[in-house]
Amino acid sequence: MAMTYDTLTQPQTQEPTPIAFAKVGSPMAIVDGVAFSGGDEWTNYGGNQTVQTERLFYPKTLEDLKVIVREARNNNKKVRCVGSGHSWSATAVTPDYMVSVNGMDKIHKPVRAQDGSGWTVTLETGVLVSQLDTFLRAHNPPLAVPSQVVPDVAHSSEFHSNRSLFSSRFNDLSQVRFGGILTMGCHGGGLNLRTLSDTITEMKIVNAHGELVTYSAAKDPEAFNVACLNLGLLGIIYTATIKVEEMNTRLRVTDSFPTLASLFQSPQAGLNLKALILGNDSTEFFHWPFQRFMQPDQNKNIWVKESKRTTEPAEDLKKYEGLPPMVDNPFFSTFQTGSRIMEIPDALHFPIGDGVTTVVDAGCAIKVDSDFKNICETITELIEKNWEFATSMPERKDTAIEFRFIKASDKILSPAYDKDPETIFCMISILAVSGTPDFEEYSASIIANWIGKYNAKPHWPKMWEKVDGIIPYLQREYGDRITRFNRVRKSQDPADMFVNDTWRPLFQENEY
Ligand SMILES: Cc1cc2nc3c(=O)[nH]c(=O)nc-3n(C[C@H](O)[C@H](O)[C@H](O)COP(=O)(O)OP(=O)(O)OC[C@H]3O[C@@H](n4cnc5c(N)ncnc54)[C@H](O)[C@@H]3O)c2cc1C
Repeated sequence: MAMTYDTLTQPQTQEPTPIAFAKVGSPMAIVDGVAFSGGDEWTNYGGNQTVQTERLFYPKTLEDLKVIVREARNNNKKVRCVGSGHSWSATAVTPDYMVSVNGMDKIHKPVRAQDGSGWTVTLETGVLVSQLDTFLRAHNPPLAVPSQVVPDVAHSSEFHSNRSLFSSRFNDLSQVRFGGILTMGCHGGGLNLRTLSDTITEMKIVNAHGELVTYSAAKDPEAFNVACLNLGLLGIIYTATIKVEEMNTRLRVTDSFPTLASLFQSPQAGLNLKALILGNDSTEFFHWPFQRFMQPDQNKNIWVKESKRTTEPAEDLKKYEGLPPMVDNPFFSTFQTGSRIMEIPDALHFPIGDGVTTVVDAGCAIKVDSDFKNICETITELIEKNWEFATSMPERKDTAIEFRFIKASDKILSPAYDKDPETIFCMISILAVSGTPDFEEYSASIIANWIGKYNAKPHWPKMWEKVDGIIPYLQREYGDRITRFNRVRKSQDPADMFVNDTWRPLFQENEY
């Protein structure tokens, strides 16, 4: 069905939105109405990926996407899209043609399913998480994406009240776009809400032939499954339709700072942790190595953020403004213990960071044993390793650990894939300030350890490419699912236009 623009509820963006850290190499040129610049040096948010691109395109319309694909075909070039550049793997990188989807930011009017099963909204892939939140809040009735990636602070009144603490760069760069989060199987902390890719009901993608292909479960379940978590390998995604919910509940968010020993080190620790996780709608943990910033005492506590749905009204968050910091670490200085009832987007996008520091991140999905013992073991071991790393050199002090729990995804390339939908995965990350010496090697050794012990699967947008033996391991573990993915991929991109150096080893050496 052709898109009818009269259903659009947002004006088109007028000017191309620059991508993170792009430096213009040559003046803007136009091919068939599509703006592009040449020789741009592009660097991602984390500062660990840089590339000089032959062309950086700024499409606005579906026709523009087709022109880009035609240009790439005629000139035998690779194509990779880029949103806010918040991925740490090199998934968005190509020296050929990069496509900034940031100007593709239309949101269509939400639709209520006739069978009463809920709401969906169709959006282009340059839509920011914050943009959709604002749009859905203003809808009648108000709607929300109930589980979401962390980075977006646009709606937090706490953030705004503390704005002077933050540089303006923070607000520009702390937001990710739907193309990135859906393509890569990103997730929030909602236990029962799985990944963002699991909320998709339809995808429209321009393939390497320049055709717009619609994917839905009704049309072709296998191709739809692949499209929902496609790593940018089926073409340029034009629109995605996702499930959203009526915002008739709030979240009660309770922050606490218990000791590590009380949570992870008693004989009953696993079962206690299980009860905690199952008792909440979402639970997120943060640990940083030093109790007091720049002081040599180890942090023996862990930050716990628990969220539960409630029908109670949201509090006026202004009353919490101006509280003195409780955490003596600039990156976590916005954290406060206590319990607050918040609207869903405010609860999901809590303020974090100091506004200037960017981080790098390596992360995995670890399947949780039924007694949660493997998670207690993972955390206890990781905290000790992180302490050793952070104390080995002053420049390595700024590291952190973060983890959440979600139920399995049925998307065949999800690191949280499992046939049993009740299987729980721990989505765990180790982070460090960008430029921390040897962090990539250190984090790769941590991931290799998790692979050896728990068959952990790397989260695709994070750092995993340097892990020893990663490609044969992933080919073995994903096995037939790579073959199935490739079958759909090859039907859309027979000459591998969308395959860059990140994905070539995994998908091309595995052809049948
Ligand atoms: C501070 C921070 C916090 C984060 N928190 C979370 C979190 O809570 N949970 C989580 O899961 N992840 C998290 N991430 C990771 C982040 O969500 C992903 O890296 C996400 O992909 C970033 O979106 P982006 O717009 O920056 O995409 P980019 O990094 O620019 O692109 C990601 C991929 O999407 C592809 N892509 C984008 N648009 C299209 C399109 N239209 N067609 C085809 N391919 C496309 C690109 O080619 C690329 O391969 C975090 C990252 C940062 C920096």
